[in-house]
Amino acid sequence: MMRQFELVETIKAYDPNADEDAINRAYVFAMRAHGAQKRASGDPYFSHPIEVAGILTRYKVDTATIVTALLHDTIEDTDATFADLEKMFGNDVARLVDGVTKLTRINFDSDQAKQAENFRKFLLAMSEDIRVLLVKLADRLHNMRTLQYIKKPESRARIARETMEIYAPLAERIGIDEIKSELEDLAFAELNPDARNSVVRRLDFLRNQGGNLVNRILSELNHLMLENDIKADIQGREKSPYSIWQKMQQHDVGFEQLSDIMAFRIIVDDIDSCYRTLGIVHGTYRTVPGRFKDYVSTPKPNGYRSLHTGVFGPENQRIELQIRTREMHEVAENGVAAHWNYKDGGQPDAARKDGPQYRWLRELLEILDHASDPEEFLEHTKLEMFKDQVFAFTPRGDLISLPTGATPVDFAYAVHSEIGDRCVGAKINGRMMPLRTALRNGDQVQIVTSKAQTPSPTWERFVVSGKARARIRRYIRMQERDQYMALGRSMLKRTFTESGNKFSDKALNAVLKSFSQPTIEDLCAQVGAGHVGARAVVEAVYPRLKNADNNDKVVSITDNRAGNSKRGEGVSIKGLIPGMAMHFAGCCHPLPGDRIVGIVTTGRGVTIHTIDCEKLKQFQDEPERWLDVAWENTDSQQAHVARVTLTVSNTPGALGDLSTVIAKNGGNITNLKILDRQIDFFDMLIDIEVKNVKHLSDIIAALRASEAVNTIERARG
Ligand code: MN
Repeated sequence: MMRQFELVETIKAYDPNADEDAINRAYVFAMRAHGAQKRASGDPYFSHPIEVAGILTRYKVDTATIVTALLHDTIEDTDATFADLEKMFGNDVARLVDGVTKLTRINFDSDQAKQAENFRKFLLAMSEDIRVLLVKLADRLHNMRTLQYIKKPESRARIARETMEIYAPLAERIGIDEIKSELEDLAFAELNPDARNSVVRRLDFLRNQGGNLVNRILSELNHLMLENDIKADIQGREKSPYSIWQKMQQHDVGFEQLSDIMAFRIIVDDIDSCYRTLGIVHGTYRTVPGRFKDYVSTPKPNGYRSLHTGVFGPENQRIELQIRTREMHEVAENGVAAHWNYKDGGQPDAARKDGPQYRWLRELLEILDHASDPEEFLEHTKLEMFKDQVFAFTPRGDLISLPTGATPVDFAYAVHSEIGDRCVGAKINGRMMPLRTALRNGDQVQIVTSKAQTPSPTWERFVVSGKARARIRRYIRMQERDQYMALGRSMLKRTFTESGNKFSDKALNAVLKSFSQPTIEDLCAQVGAGHVGARAVVEAVYPRLKNADNNDKVVSITDNRAGNSKRGEGVSIKGLIPGMAMHFAGCCHPLPGDRIVGIVTTGRGVTIHTIDCEKLKQFQDEPERWLDVAWENTDSQQAHVARVTLTVSNTPGALGDLSTVIAKNGGNITNLKILDRQIDFFDMLIDIEVKNVKHLSDIIAALRASEAVNTIERARG
């Protein structure tokens, strides 16, 4: 286990300005917090965060990242809270640790392999700060290095799969090749030990048979560079068992045919030397067709640059060659971490957060997601990462990806249509929240359902996903039909009774044909929707009623409708019953943009109230009269009367001020009444013509700002 002074010395060696005090405090804090906790290996738990910090020193990270590494499990596994960390280490570190904790809590269910890409995106989206991701990768690397101590085979397998599918690709994406290869190989050893062992055995065999082939090729390449006067640093290595295995699978070749198990790197001073070296190599050895790639002129999306080629090299062995400059090498090995900038040391971490190096990192993350091939890399310079997506979780940990702005209702429909139809509430991260709440990345959403619930037309106003919208509309259409049926039936009953006849299904059955309706339900719906008059049905059953009495006591809704009923008062409202008169309630003065309901009064049509109108209480026991309605649009130019009550200071000119403010804001006073006059203030009521709720609230805001106004409120019923 790395000791405190060793850690500090390692960091000081690359960052003389590192905050030694903060690192020491974090070390002690984590040691105390984890106390006597033990790892599966039997080591003190605290050895883990130190190892994670140690891994990160390899990438020359800043003090905040080291401190975060030391503290990364304290929120999750000890009594320490966000507030504790914030108090002791500042907001920056507390947020970083919190970020790592959130990633730790995600449970990747690998049965859903197709979701792996979503998870990777999600992790990137959650790691708004690249340092969170670096700590998480180092954390995973150390956990993989100690995987053998986990007792349950199924836990080991799960962790290994997660590593292979999520974390290794992530390390590759941010360009840290070293971590990527080690993660892959450790996971490979767990997931497919037989395959790995056979690769390792073959490697051993080839090594013994060929003597020290790598060294012999190295010296020949060195000689070649010297002859041509190129200063080069050449490295040779065997590829990792996993990458050899992968190649065997991809190209469907056996080990015998797979001779290019060695890779060499020629590191030179500048780009010019890269291409010269390439020329010399190609001039000396036969090339393997299809292996040449120029990632110098066209870098990979993660910023990787190198020339790649394959040749039949010294001793006629197939070898893979990478040619790059020192700088390119640094990026290839350390990825984004290579871009850490310490030139501005001395400044506190928080101040550096928005420094150019972070902007660069953020942009890189953006590009990483959007560019799928090198050509795209150059085209994308400024894209916002996952701007159009939000990721939320079911209580079981399944990941649901939704459009930005999605609500629990969208979430419910995404999980299952049935759950969407029946949802009555939602717990977001354990707290009951309104169904219209916009979800945020990483929210855990639990939908509360009820058998009695049905989709509400009001949901349509806030859902953003196509599936939710389609389901809700479909339901509303069906529900409308049900309403028409019920309404038509009651209209028919009344008309039958008023004409002195008995209403029965049998009577209706007899006239279905003459109205071209297949069933009684259809006929009722036609009557309810106003396409067929109730009186006409009665007269069809009892033809003698025709022309009989004309004193017209029989008043059905359809007879009574105004010509412009649905578009009454020039504004259209969704959910009305065609053919039914509509008017706005005088008690609450609904405005476009208000949440509204309709109350059906037989013979009078529908009265629109605001959803919070006091008067609605009296209809509580008559649910059949309630109609779910909504504004078609809230931007009408039509004037609507709104009522406000105010307390105004009793000073000369106060009323003049009010009318000026209202006129200036495009309102028109239609009625004004003083309710109670006192010495200093008086209460009053004003009716104003406005376009919609937004318009009214603009006027209220302007009035509130006026000196004359003490209080102002919209009148409700
Ligand atoms: Mn950990």
